[in-house]
Parts: sequence; C-alpha cells; structure tokens
Amino acid sequence: MNLVLLGPPGAGKGTQAQRLEDAYGLKQLSTGDMLRAAIKSGNPLGRQLQETLDAGQLVSDEMMVAMISARIEEADCRNGVIFDGFPRTVDQAEALDGLLQEKGSRLAAVIEIRADDQALVDRITGRFTCAKCGANYNKRFKPTAVAGVCDVCGSTEFDYRSDDTEETVRKRLETYHGQTEPILPYYRRQGLLHSVDGNLDFDEVARQIAAAVDSVSGSA
Ligand code: AMP
Repeated sequence: MNLVLLGPPGAGKGTQAQRLEDAYGLKQLSTGDMLRAAIKSGNPLGRQLQETLDAGQLVSDEMMVAMISARIEEADCRNGVIFDGFPRTVDQAEALDGLLQEKGSRLAAVIEIRADDQALVDRITGRFTCAKCGANYNKRFKPTAVAGVCDVCGSTEFDYRSDDTEETVRKRLETYHGQTEPILPYYRRQGLLHSVDGNLDFDEVARQIAAAVDSVSGSA
C-alpha cells in the first residue's frame, strides 16, 4: 500500500508518517530528510540545495523525481511507501503516478493535513530536535523537562533547522499555497483525497488518519 501525506510545513506530516510506518509496516520517505542528508554528506550540489531550502523555494521537479524513482526501488520499500513531502507540484504528482504504474502499483490514498498559517508559524519557529537521539521538542508547546537537557537521552546538544526562521516559514507557506495546493484537485478527481484537521490534538489527527487508511487498505 502506498500513501501520500500532503500538507503545509509544520502540519505534522513527519510525526504522523512515523506512526503510520510502525502501524502498517510501510516505509516513510521524507524528501526533506533526503535533501538534508545529501547536504550534510557533502554532495557537490549541497551549497545550491541549502540556498534553495533556506529561501523556502522548491528544488527542481527533475531532481526530486530522480531521487524518488531510485529510492522506491530499494528493498525496504517493497511493502509500500508513505510519501512525506512528495509530491509538491502537479508535475511531481503526475510523475509519481507514472513511476508507480511502471511497478504495477498505485496510490491507495492521499491524506491532506490542514492547518492555519499562523498556528504553523508558531509551531515551526519553536521546534528543535535532540542532536543525538532525534527526539522532537518545541520551545512553547513541548519544552524539555530540564532546560537544555534531552528528556530521552540526556544529551545537551540540539539541532535547529536553518529554514525554520519566521521569514523562511512564511515563504515556505507561500510556496505551499501557490505550488503544492493545486495538487489537491488532481487527487480529488481520482477519488483518492482524504482531509483531516491538523489543528486538532496529535492523537486525534492520528486516529482520523488511521480511519482513512483503514477505509482503503486492501484496495491497493
Ligand atoms: P520539508 O522537510 O518537507 O519541510 O522540506 C524542506 C525543504 O526541502 C522544502 O522547503 C523544499 O525546499 C525542499 N523539498 C522537500 N521536498 C521537496 C519536493 N518534493 N520538491 C521540491 N522541493 C522539496
């Protein structure tokens, strides 16, 4: 079963995808994580990619489709994939349909997580992760129990994404509304689109997503 999680930055796609991964035995593919890993590994295109991410703009469709096309061939994607942050344009959505078709597969559902822009800005500009174990925190909504110490592993080092500044977040939201939202009618026409309210509490959003996935599992 293949799923797409769609939604603006900060809507909770990543955390919800992790939960689905465990519950349904699927592989989460986050194109944002893949790009950040490429930048960190010293990829020759790293500097250019970093500039694109920090400007809140999209990396080219060509590069993203090539990246996903290679990745879905790997063994860990055999049971199905949760696409997190891909597709982000109608061209990417069409390319994904083609790639899956070539493998004799297709999408089972597209889950849209909706959220208000201002709530997203508040959420994203406060978030940080433990540099050692990856635990997620938020300055306002989910601080560490002891200031500066990870609750899970005790580390005192934390990562902040360079594109999580208010200015870049507003640009990323603009990019989402302009370039990614037009995908919604594309999937609605195919009868694949399910929308959930991402302003609700995390467990309630997870419950609604699971209900949508259960309603289609077995169909693809
Ligand atoms: P994310 O971690 O999903 O918020 O992605 C971070 C950034 O990576 C985005 O703001 C884009 O600059 C870039 N990016 C991630 N996925 C894509 C994609 N499918 N197409 C183009 N750019 C992407």
